[in-house]
Amino acid sequence: MNLLIIGAPGAGKGTMSELILDKFNLVHVSTGDMLRAAVKNGTPVGLKAQEYMNRGELVPDEVIHDIIVERLSQDDIEQGFLFDGYPRTKNQAVDLDEILKSLNKKIDCVINLNIEDEVLVKRITGRRLCPECGEIYNIYLKPSKKEGICDKCGSELIQRKDDNLESLKVRLSEYHKNTQPVIEYYEKTGIVKHVDATAGVDKVFDEIKTVLEGLC
Ligand code: AMP
Repeated sequence: MNLLIIGAPGAGKGTMSELILDKFNLVHVSTGDMLRAAVKNGTPVGLKAQEYMNRGELVPDEVIHDIIVERLSQDDIEQGFLFDGYPRTKNQAVDLDEILKSLNKKIDCVINLNIEDEVLVKRITGRRLCPECGEIYNIYLKPSKKEGICDKCGSELIQRKDDNLESLKVRLSEYHKNTQPVIEYYEKTGIVKHVDATAGVDKVFDEIKTVLEGLC
């Protein structure tokens, strides 16, 4: 099963991805994670992407094309994958169709996490991450027991550089302008499932699980 999860920044793509991967044993392909790793390691891709990411703007499609082709050439992809944060533009979606066609693969379902922009401010500006185990917290909505420290592994929590109000405004406007057309693009093929992402984590995941179990 090959899936795609779409939603505005803070809609819960990361949290839902973790739960989906766990339950359905898929490979996680997050362009955001791959780009952050590239920035951290100072690779040529990272150097190209860094400024766009800090401003909250989308990284150029050509850069994304290259990292996706590279990722899809790895063997673990055969077990099925979940694209998280990709495709972000209609161009990327058209390009992905071509890439998948050449690999004799297709997307089975697009999960669209629906949420109002107003709810996202608290989710994004309060978000904290554990750099070691990947656990996600929120200082307003899901604080760690000890401030700034991961409950699971005891590491110091970090805040993403682009999780501030200024970048969020740009990311939301990029989302509405560029990513919503991606949903319309897939809508034509009848594989989009809309999920209300304002509910609690368990409820949102239950809804996704029901959809995906219907596909297995
Ligand atoms: P994310 O972790 O998915 O929120 O992505 C963080 C940032 O990485 C975005 O704000 C963009 O700057 C960049 N990015 C991630 N995925 C893509 C993509 N598919 N296309 C363009 N830029 C991306």
